Amino acid sequence: MKCSKAHKLISPYIDSELPESEMNALEGHIKDCFKCRKELEEGRELQNLLSMADIHKAPYGFNTRVMANLSPEKADKSSRFAVLAGLAEATAVIMVIAFGILSGSLVIKGAQPDRATDVIASLSLDVFDSAPPGSLGGVYLAMTEVRNEK
Ligand SMILES: [Zn+2]
Repeated sequence: MKCSKAHKLISPYIDSELPESEMNALEGHIKDCFKCRKELEEGRELQNLLSMADIHKAPYGFNTRVMANLSPEKADKSSRFAVLAGLAEATAVIMVIAFGILSGSLVIKGAQPDRATDVIASLSLDVFDSAPPGSLGGVYLAMTEVRNEK
């Protein structure tokens, strides 16, 4: 047997998955080949480590029991905190917007007192006409308005 063939058989050999003929052939090779014997030993060590890791596997239902034993007070507090944090964030955003509008109007008031009312008026949506007065749409709107008034 060549080392390349032995290399492929070592893992199934450790797992006892080889037919007896191949098992015997591999054992014969390993007796004479130091390199493959070492590989087999390393494979067995790895298998031992993995089987030890299996021992530490969490028992069935472990997760459910841990979650059930968590104190309900803690869970309640944390959810309340999340709501408060959300409220604080929303309040901060509103304050920033309000401060921006107020400071903007104050700055404009200070610089050009006569234009302050224009700026405040521009904050309302009435400024945005659906169509400018001189345009075709504006003429159409003016005609329909007159018709609606009749
Ligand atoms: Zn070999």
